[in-house]
Amino acid sequence: MTATLPRLLLGVDPDSALSLQDHLDVHGPLPSLGTGGRRLLSRRPDAGGALIEEVERAGLRGRGGASFPAASKMRAVASARGKAIVVVNATEGEPASMKDRLLLQSLPHLVLDGAVLAATAVGADEAIVCVCETNADLHSVQRAIGERRALREGVDLRFSVVPNGYVSGQESALVQHLNGGPALPTFTPPMPFQSGVQGRPTLVSNAETLAHLAMIARHGAEWYRQLGIASQPGSTLVTLSGPVAHPGVYEIEHGASLSSLIEAAGGLSATVRAVLLGGYAGTWVDARSIHGLGLSDEQLAPYGASVGAGVIALLSADACPVAETARLMQWLADQSAGQCGPCVNGLHAIAKTFAQVAAGTAGRGAAQNLARLVLLTRGRGACRHPDGAVRLAESAAQVFAEELSDHARHGACAACGRAAEFPLPAWSDPERTTRSKRTRGTAGSASKLRIGARA
Ligand code: SF4
Repeated sequence: MTATLPRLLLGVDPDSALSLQDHLDVHGPLPSLGTGGRRLLSRRPDAGGALIEEVERAGLRGRGGASFPAASKMRAVASARGKAIVVVNATEGEPASMKDRLLLQSLPHLVLDGAVLAATAVGADEAIVCVCETNADLHSVQRAIGERRALREGVDLRFSVVPNGYVSGQESALVQHLNGGPALPTFTPPMPFQSGVQGRPTLVSNAETLAHLAMIARHGAEWYRQLGIASQPGSTLVTLSGPVAHPGVYEIEHGASLSSLIEAAGGLSATVRAVLLGGYAGTWVDARSIHGLGLSDEQLAPYGASVGAGVIALLSADACPVAETARLMQWLADQSAGQCGPCVNGLHAIAKTFAQVAAGTAGRGAAQNLARLVLLTRGRGACRHPDGAVRLAESAAQVFAEELSDHARHGACAACGRAAEFPLPAWSDPERTTRSKRTRGTAGSASKLRIGARA
């Protein structure tokens, strides 16, 4: 097969799910079900199997945000003692991300292919597809699970709904929830691969990661590496929001330029002030850097950014970046699971400082205060939540230094009164945010599907 896009989104219809037969017509049978496929799924005495080796050669990394090597995770589970279990993480706690919902809504069998393959490779007989409460209506997944029963793949597929929450999709939170507890992160070790769901070695894998795995199993590592760059091969799904003609979910190759993505989305519909990359707990990059910005971790590293969960949120020049950051910071602080002091106190203190700066009541020394709070908070939680929130605050202080200084001296600007541009989920209480203005739908309503942006 030649290296073209789309890969994952081949044959997708955003308005309906591909049936099992349609899916097989587009992608062909799984290697385990087709001739010669046994080679990929054969188990080796060193616990891993040929599929894991192929995934390693492909260089597949997780698409949930942390970008962890998929093969390393699989190998750890395959090597652990006991019957393993697979958890498909499609909880998608990032409010600006729509990609996992799109996959499960339109291409459920591609994700289930990956779940079955991963389960077979790590020695699991069960895979649980987890979605958040907001997506509990994804009947496409339940229908797809029902369709596959006749295939007798040796993996029991289940569907589970997890309470909404920014941190409820963290690996340890999912495990705790599936064990009957609250969907909150736990202190590790043990790691899920050591003792996870029902005390079994547990592979928690993002839905998109598993969809890529299904493609690698069919076409091989070499094919996968024909797109992307050496340090980050393959394609990836991103959710583009903000002032573009067609916001939505796109499949791009790693290393594609942000300019080409914006072009594929019909171009800008307004002047842009900055772009938030990775997610709400991501990194602001100044609009002046957009041209020439490559979408890969390697190319974004100089900006302190990464592709993360594929969120690319453009902020218009009409918005106030200080007020917008203050609002996101407060929301992130509210999303703390309330278990670790530095996370609870640190994030709320940072959010409060941002709100004071936005209102012009912070007084002198706000910048130093922010820097001190960042140092006290970073790396001090049981999970990565505070680190991401701190990243948002730090990058805002850098990119919007001028605006922060203006607000500190003159108070709220004219743009502070405008409707907020970045949507917050309906399930979170808007009254708890710094500004409870009506949120204009961007990513939240960006159900349009677009495919493209190679370079
Ligand atoms: S760091 Fe924050 S979000 Fe993570 S477990 Fe601790 S309190 Fe909860």
